[in-house]
Amino acid sequence: MSYQFQFSPYRRKFKVPLQTHHGIWSVREGIILQLHDSNGQRYLGEIAPLPDFGSETLEEALNFCQSLEKIVDPSVIATIPDSLPACQFGFESALCVNYPLPSVSTQNYSHLLPTGEKALEVIHQVRDRDVKTYKWKIGVQPFEVESFIFDKLIAQLPENTQLRLDANGGLNLDDAKRWLSLADEVGKIEFIEQPLSSQQFSDLLMLAEEFKTAIALDESVSNLQQLKQSYQDGWRGVYVIKAAIMGSPRKLQDWVQTHPIDAVFSSVFETPIGRQAVLKFAQKLHNPNRALGFGVDHWLEDSV
Ligand code: MG
Repeated sequence: MSYQFQFSPYRRKFKVPLQTHHGIWSVREGIILQLHDSNGQRYLGEIAPLPDFGSETLEEALNFCQSLEKIVDPSVIATIPDSLPACQFGFESALCVNYPLPSVSTQNYSHLLPTGEKALEVIHQVRDRDVKTYKWKIGVQPFEVESFIFDKLIAQLPENTQLRLDANGGLNLDDAKRWLSLADEVGKIEFIEQPLSSQQFSDLLMLAEEFKTAIALDESVSNLQQLKQSYQDGWRGVYVIKAAIMGSPRKLQDWVQTHPIDAVFSSVFETPIGRQAVLKFAQKLHNPNRALGFGVDHWLEDSV
């Protein structure tokens, strides 16, 4: 069956720009696509590229959508090149996700705090909500500055909650060791995400051996090929899965179902359309003992 195809770009502003080791992010841009079959059934999908993690750019995704005819054949969708992973996800997931899906309790989301000392203010405001897992970006300011804030943050962390730290690949080996020692001492750190860059795989393996606190790969595994490679090279820590940029969700599902990995599904600040699609796969593949990385809605303005 062929589909009538339409697409529309969107822009969504961050209420406050998000600062990470990759830089400052103030607008999330992506594409909503619509496919209609001959029975009048409508299918929605989202393309939410993240070039900092190696996906195509928004421009490349737009060029691809513009290159398609108004009527799209399934064979076109099945042959979207691997160089357009967010497009692969958007088109393929549109056709295999039925809306609306049962909602997932946001209690199971990890709540992303602002970077730097603003986290201290915010944790104060949200500490009474039912959040069990928080996340805080590091690797933006010098270790001395961030570890000073970290001590205060840990002191304010509600009982029975835990914190994820995410360096976005921004630490050097010495600082990574300092953070991991600190985390081992404090004991409330669920894991540290991508302490070193993806090029430092053997150092990441070594750190995982040396410290108690778990380490999660994120930037290292931003597409299916890298995920497979890291597994083959012996990574048995946590894997952050940003399904919206990882290409064909069917291939991802097939692989994860046959490889017992500790998977944490995570957002790329997609709209509810992309999020629902990712959650459909997360329901089967995510480690149920860990919070989903989707506590980010409070970061974006509502309008799409
Ligand atoms: Mg991350």
